[in-house]
Amino acid sequence: TATAAAALVWFRKGLRVHDNPALDAARRSAARVYPVFVLDPRYLRPDPAAPSPGSARAGVARVRFLLESLRDLDARLRRLGSRLLVLRAREDVSDAVCAALKDWNIRKLCFESDTEPYALARDKRVTDFAAASGIEVFSPVSHTLFDPAEIIEKLLFSPANLKNGGRPPLTYQSFVATAGEPPKPVMEEYSELPPIGDTGGYELLPVPKLEELGYGDLSQEYIPPFRGGETEALKRMRESLQDKEWVAKFEKPKGDPSAFLKPATTVLSPYLKFGCLSARYFYHCIQDVYRSTKTHTKPPVSLAGQLLWRDFFYTVSFGTPNFDQMEGNKICKQIPWRENEELFVAWRDGRTGYPWIDAIMIQLRKWGWMHHLARHSVACFLTRGDLYVHWEQGRDVFERLLIDSDWAINNGNWLWLSCSSFFYQYHRIYSPISFGKKYDPNGDYIRHFIPVLKDMPKEYIYEPWTAPLSVQEKARCIVGKDYPKPVVDHEAASKECRKRMGEAYACNRLGGNPVKGNSSNSSR
Ligand code: FAD
Repeated sequence: TATAAAALVWFRKGLRVHDNPALDAARRSAARVYPVFVLDPRYLRPDPAAPSPGSARAGVARVRFLLESLRDLDARLRRLGSRLLVLRAREDVSDAVCAALKDWNIRKLCFESDTEPYALARDKRVTDFAAASGIEVFSPVSHTLFDPAEIIEKLLFSPANLKNGGRPPLTYQSFVATAGEPPKPVMEEYSELPPIGDTGGYELLPVPKLEELGYGDLSQEYIPPFRGGETEALKRMRESLQDKEWVAKFEKPKGDPSAFLKPATTVLSPYLKFGCLSARYFYHCIQDVYRSTKTHTKPPVSLAGQLLWRDFFYTVSFGTPNFDQMEGNKICKQIPWRENEELFVAWRDGRTGYPWIDAIMIQLRKWGWMHHLARHSVACFLTRGDLYVHWEQGRDVFERLLIDSDWAINNGNWLWLSCSSFFYQYHRIYSPISFGKKYDPNGDYIRHFIPVLKDMPKEYIYEPWTAPLSVQEKARCIVGKDYPKPVVDHEAASKECRKRMGEAYACNRLGGNPVKGNSSNSSR
């Protein structure tokens, strides 16, 4: 394209300089480039009524991670002679972007494509405005390895599917077989970005501090041990990949979910969520390691296989209407989950009386990150394992509190863990007692996240209610007073859950809808 006078790069995710095709296109095609991030009140406005510090939609740990990522992006842009222009939206982010496009006389708009429903609606408002104003738009796919729309097209027209009657196969295996090799990242080095043009009457503020957004009097409790930003992401990735043997032998189901000082997986998920790290760059760096080792594990359990899981969920979510709910979602089993606010709140607040479950939920609230199998444990416990509460309620808690909170992946995994889709072995239930004990017999993980249990002898740490009163007194933790009694009896509850799941599945098989006509659920 001819050199446009001014281009605007709209950062949302993709908070990085490396492998950033939108930024790359802008710098190549315009004499002036405005790098913009708009603070979205939907995610950032503090909500004092929320069950833990943060906004209605994001826990404070994620807000902090975002601000750190923005500060790092700004620093990296400044090294290229530019800077991040941070704008504040009063309500709708798209209004702020449209105003800047108009006020700065922008001729080209570049932003990474985003397939989440909220983003699609937001971006459409902006691209409609751009079309009406004659502004060129460039919106490449760079958040995922593949373009979900392209993969769906390929799946639809695959021979297996045509035989199948035109229903896209939704298995990981068919996805991997169809997808092929992902495109290479755009890694060209450059030392300078075009200058920013005149910003008129705009007040150019630095990336705000947490306090400036109204999160003033927060305790230091919610500081995850992971700093946001591209610099940290690249460092973390290199450190993870340095141990080639670890990479080559990586098998996801073998990791230790209780390891918290040195987690068993990369903890790159928050960086991938905000795009501080490019999935394509990460994927190709893993392939480089594989080339230098004799053998390596394969998908689905390998490290590269994890990134394919990510793309798998992006693809399915893009192709499935109402993916984030049970009703109207064709791939979701219809299950008459029960409504029980008390059990749900006990789960959410880490007060179920099962230390393994509670420690995980407290790690979620404080750090915003837990190991995959820890997520399995609590998601199974809330839904089909013990409490029989709707997966959408658990999904909402994760969506708010995870620092890697990701619409496609989170919904996909909740569908999975609740045996609503993808995985159907509902009789296989994680024990809230023996599963964690297998990895951490001493209960160090529990002691760290639930200090009141720190002196409980190891024989009782997973089942403190079984400790004799004298032991509880010595440990200064009386069950029922200092730490809750179990909210359900696991043996009885899991048996009841299996029975209910069996009935719901039978009803789904017959084409009936067990949800309709069930009075306890009709209010949902
Ligand atoms: P690694 O094992 O080092 O994997 C590398 C990358 O692969 C991850 O960073 C992630 O991007 C991707 N990945 C790994 N596992 C999965 C998976 N099962 N599905 C899709 N992608 C995967 N992950 C999120 O990123 N955001 C979420 O909101 C989220 N919600 C979840 C909810 C539930 C109920 C469950 C069971 C899992 C959820 N996961 C989510 C998936 C997974 O637990 C995390 O991606 C993983 O634990 C992140 O740690 P890591 O970066 O060390 O993973």
